[in-house]
Amino acid sequence: MLELKRTLDAKGHGVLEMPSGTGKTISLLSLIVAYQRAHPLEVTKLIYCSRTVPEIEKVIEELRKLLDFYEKRTGEKLPFLGLALSSRKNLCIHPEVSSLRFGKEVDSKCLSLTASYVRAQQQWDSAIPSCRFFEEFDAHGRQVPIPFGVYNLDDLKGYCRQKGWCPYFLARYSILHANIVVYSYHYLLDPKIADLVSKELAKKSVVVFDEAHNIDNVCIDSMGVNITRRTLDRCQANVTTLQATIQKIKETDAQKLKEEYRRLVEGLREANVARETDIYLANPVLPDEILQEAVPGNIRTAEHFVGFMKRFLEYLKSRLRVHHMVQESPPSFLKDVFEKVLCRAAALPAPHAGDRGHR
Ligand code: SF4
Repeated sequence: MLELKRTLDAKGHGVLEMPSGTGKTISLLSLIVAYQRAHPLEVTKLIYCSRTVPEIEKVIEELRKLLDFYEKRTGEKLPFLGLALSSRKNLCIHPEVSSLRFGKEVDSKCLSLTASYVRAQQQWDSAIPSCRFFEEFDAHGRQVPIPFGVYNLDDLKGYCRQKGWCPYFLARYSILHANIVVYSYHYLLDPKIADLVSKELAKKSVVVFDEAHNIDNVCIDSMGVNITRRTLDRCQANVTTLQATIQKIKETDAQKLKEEYRRLVEGLREANVARETDIYLANPVLPDEILQEAVPGNIRTAEHFVGFMKRFLEYLKSRLRVHHMVQESPPSFLKDVFEKVLCRAAALPAPHAGDRGHR
């Protein structure tokens, strides 16, 4: 505990190794919560990262016991907010969406009800379905802070059922002013998710990674992409359909094609500001470089875009034909793409530094 306190004083990093069942979680929580109380301006938030939902729930229960203990000893309730954040699959209360079996399906269905472009259409077409819990949260949920206390996933759902709000979006919003946040590693380590969920979290946070030996695997999982021959065949089929559609529109209505393409480019630009509801966790999202640059020069027309995609697909196919393991850094991969098929690096989803090579 002394070393841990020294780590906090030094604003440094510490590694704590203790056998299972010896009280790591409660020791960490006790010391860090006490430290937060003693130095409220220096440590404003504890971010506790765990791996699985049961582990997250366990941390929340330990925290509840700790705050109850404080209350018993001091006779007053600590003005602390601690909550768990998990995926839509674990937090959704929409009767149909929450009954879907897989997380990807829940994300996708939620997106189809809450994405900014869908909501824009709902304004003039009331037949387009929406999620009432999201709409209620959007209208009122941000104005009233969630009361102090400790909330596990069921507590959040119970609270939101009373209010008619979406627990997932409430939790995402509430972590900004919570004193203690317990969530999965991915919310901090996966750049696709961290950018949306954790970007605004206080710089004066203490971060704990429980079972930190898993960090490597989590990083590999979040930064890795598996590309199979089947994926490429399906991409090829989509590009062919797109090409045929463009040709058809071109023959019938060139102006409409220009307009569609203009909207695509506009949409990419706007996506940067309307990403709160648009995240589709299971899929890679467009990297900021592309959103900011909108669409680089060489894919600025629909036909060039198709040409670009075809060349890139051919390139990937040729790379999959090798029969031996190849390890390559992102810059050398992009250089090779450029040399072989003249695809400018900025037009490709940027591989994040430190990506493992590809096979
Ligand atoms: S907004 Fe919330 S309640 Fe509505 S579908 Fe999405 S996750 Fe479920």
